[in-house]
Amino acid sequence: MVYHKRFMVWWGLSLFLCKLSSRRQLDYQLNTDGPEVLDNLNRLAETAQDSRPVNQTLEYFLEGTGAAPIAGLRQRMVQRLIRMKALDEARLQGRFVILIDGTGYLVFRSRHCDHCLTQQHGETTLYMHQALEAKLLGPAGTVVSIATEFIDNSDAQSAGAGASQERVKQDCELKALRRLLARLRAGFPQLRICLCGDGLYACGEGFQVAKDYKCDYIYTFKPGRLPALWEDFQGLLRLEPQKQVVWTTPQGVEQVYHWVNALDYTDSDGRRWSVNALACTETNKEGNQTEWSWLTSLNLIHGTVVAVASRGGRERWREENEGFNTQKNSGLNLEHAYSHTCWAGYYFLLQIAHLLLQLMEKGSLLRQLAQEQGKRTAVELFGSLKNLAQRLLESLRYLRWPDEAFDRMGASGIQIRLDSS
Ligand SMILES: [Zn+2]
Repeated sequence: MVYHKRFMVWWGLSLFLCKLSSRRQLDYQLNTDGPEVLDNLNRLAETAQDSRPVNQTLEYFLEGTGAAPIAGLRQRMVQRLIRMKALDEARLQGRFVILIDGTGYLVFRSRHCDHCLTQQHGETTLYMHQALEAKLLGPAGTVVSIATEFIDNSDAQSAGAGASQERVKQDCELKALRRLLARLRAGFPQLRICLCGDGLYACGEGFQVAKDYKCDYIYTFKPGRLPALWEDFQGLLRLEPQKQVVWTTPQGVEQVYHWVNALDYTDSDGRRWSVNALACTETNKEGNQTEWSWLTSLNLIHGTVVAVASRGGRERWREENEGFNTQKNSGLNLEHAYSHTCWAGYYFLLQIAHLLLQLMEKGSLLRQLAQEQGKRTAVELFGSLKNLAQRLLESLRYLRWPDEAFDRMGASGIQIRLDSS
């Protein structure tokens, strides 16, 4: 039995869209008990399969094609969203904000392949796989995976034996960042980009990578990472107290901003940099204070500092929250070993499914349906994201999706609007 690749991609996406949690579940949830599964998937894929694959078929398919075509599919989808201007509302000074962060996504107790990273926890050694993700920030808190670089043990070797775990992590992520941006630029050569990253990127190599790939940046600025520059920053802040903006958020949090432009910094390789630094002190209604600081290539003036912080710097947590946590904990099961051989293929299928789920959850179609029922959002209408996936599975199994759902002409008139109100 030969299955068309388009059918197999939809079969694989169903695993994540319906949050089946493990590959085996395909055989139980998309089996012949669901009378409409085959017909619905055939019409989605524009194929004419007359029987269903089993879960192992997906494994053979991904082993055969490799991960690259699935990554390519993700790229075309993101390019389409950008062309449609569906993500424009989240731009910062005309640039797309791209969040950079690493995550572990596979952990084993014994060596699983030649590329495993190892981590010592007391007596036990853990064997891990990590990915460095570039996630494009869209409206309504959407985060769209736009490029991925896998980190493996060859990245860890240059840190040298006996280097601390923190040092190894920094080394790996900085090396992977350069490859990640090369990959991102190959797919999106003209895109205006502002990178958002944590304090480990605030160093000569972090500035150089941004420059080499024509990106702006907003990196978290921590005193310990660049102590001399931090001292300069604090000294100059005291000299220029008039550079201040006070802003109260709609939630009643008071923010006080101070900044310094064109700080001089010479890195360990003797390269000279001119960087801008922004500090924000936040006081919530209970009187608790939080301090934030960033280094950026974006120009800081009275009219820009709030946007740089609130639409750039502070958005970094979204990658941790809405990106990785959602992918680990919402039934997408990022840390589950869907395969021991072609895990990267599953990784990209998961990223594509997460994008589609976010468009469903935050897009205008379901929101309209929710509002007709007197609810504000799709999640409020269905009760939870888990319920939403369950309803999707039920409809895939039992409901013959109406022909108008497959009408390309009709669909071309529908715009995807992401609600950020
Ligand atoms: Zn491995």
